[in-house]
Amino acid sequence: MKLNKEKLVIKFVNELNARKCADGWIAKCPAHEDSSPSLSLNFTESGKLLWKCHAGCSQMLVFDSMLKLGFFPSKKGGANGI
Ligand SMILES: [Zn+2]
Repeated sequence: MKLNKEKLVIKFVNELNARKCADGWIAKCPAHEDSSPSLSLNFTESGKLLWKCHAGCSQMLVFDSMLKLGFFPSKKGGANGI
């Protein structure tokens, strides 16, 4: 799947309060009630998106939540990233 990185980043900033940090982005996790940002977002060199919720949400749970928010066009991609 080809992701539009700029569009995704704007969406992360607008909807999840994403902020740039040392190794990528940190945002509010859409899969749980997140008072302090605990979702790490990262783009690999090949443009693949990776994420991890430090509060313990599973990859798929976060993916499903982002999907519902309209972050991705379809439900393709693996459990560990897109
Ligand atoms: Zn979470």
